[in-house]
Amino acid sequence: MKIFFVTLGCKVNQYESEAMRKLFEAAGYTAAEEISAADVVVVNTCTVTAVSSQKSRQMIRRAANVNRNCILVVVGCYAQSEPQVVSAIDGVDVIIGTKDRTRIVELVEAAFAKRGEKIFRVGNVDDIRDFEELPHTPHRTRAFLKIEDGCDNRCAYCIIPNVRGRVRSRSLESIRAECVELKSAGYKEIVLTGIHIGAYGRDLRGVSLVDAVQTVLDAADPLRLRLGSIESAELTDELIDLLKRDSRLCNHVHLPLQSGSDEILRAMRRPYTTKNFSELTARLIAEVPEISIGTDLIVGFPGETDELFAETLNFIREQPFSKIHVFPFSARHGTLAATLPNQIAPQVKKSRAVSAVELSRAKSENFSSRLIGRTVEIIAETSTDGIVDGLTKNYVRVYVPDVGIKLGEVVRVKIERLHADGVFGKISCA
Ligand code: SF4
Repeated sequence: MKIFFVTLGCKVNQYESEAMRKLFEAAGYTAAEEISAADVVVVNTCTVTAVSSQKSRQMIRRAANVNRNCILVVVGCYAQSEPQVVSAIDGVDVIIGTKDRTRIVELVEAAFAKRGEKIFRVGNVDDIRDFEELPHTPHRTRAFLKIEDGCDNRCAYCIIPNVRGRVRSRSLESIRAECVELKSAGYKEIVLTGIHIGAYGRDLRGVSLVDAVQTVLDAADPLRLRLGSIESAELTDELIDLLKRDSRLCNHVHLPLQSGSDEILRAMRRPYTTKNFSELTARLIAEVPEISIGTDLIVGFPGETDELFAETLNFIREQPFSKIHVFPFSARHGTLAATLPNQIAPQVKKSRAVSAVELSRAKSENFSSRLIGRTVEIIAETSTDGIVDGLTKNYVRVYVPDVGIKLGEVVRVKIERLHADGVFGKISCA
């Protein structure tokens, strides 16, 4: 039996697809090269914005059209948020939400036994209290390591707590066990992932994110450990100290800002002010050499006037960001923000997004251009059309001609110029 995975969305989804693939492999399934050659197609969906939901529906329909004979499984956040819509799509056989992924093989076997009958496994996520343990082998050069699921915050715009449930932290023993495997498999870079990693440990006794980080450093001893996105208020003194002390911890953080206007931050129910945020970024720049700071920004939140948007742009201009992910506000059913007055017209959101992306590009180029003329280390990640790319420790993408570079290898590159979303250089022997 052959299986094919389509994964939309974030690093957590990628991790979970890799884990489900491992469950199928353990049951004797092998990978198909393409959708049309698979006996089972799994679409692991996303619903963070309206566009993500739309892409999820498109992918499900595409898979159903390309391969009418397969068992089509739809799993993940979009399946959890709109199970009836998914179920109504012609060709879908199995619908699983964000729990019961561990049962995916059994549910697929049931679908084979009862062809034509839909298998529906979407339960209430509010009552889940335990971290779902999934066996996992990374399928990429950088190993994602999931340490947490769910979120207890209620940011006004965010649908994720509704589809992922409450914070569940993975035990340190379980993290340690996966790290031992990653170490023996020779992974050089580990990326900690979760829905709200700053909340790690809240549901465990006397444990916090810094303990998870230390556990990974001790058990896997990676060349690099990268933190996934973390709320600014949760980057504690202890974590900053560790960032300064341990050179294995990447000098790169992703701190979602979402707005540079205090009025909009309050309306978003974000637990910080621009003052708190800028004090933190100033401290990081002063204390962690060459740190790169990425962020997320939502433009066109309800009530964001031209003046408030200008405030945001001005704030961002002053911030030392190396990359900004820009999202036009997307009203998600079931969230507070979807019910707020003063919704912003689509064309206004679009033009604000264009301005913010423009600013992001300028900031990225400014950050990356500091590398020109210098020699940096990357871990070779992918090779396409004779060009290898990989990331520096502080998250600049580097492109270099493929002269027989082995993926996963550490490569020294002399940087010559800006290129695509990063920089271009040549192999350095020095
Ligand atoms: S912290 Fe806010 S934005 Fe992040 S997942 Fe939780 S509710 Fe959503």
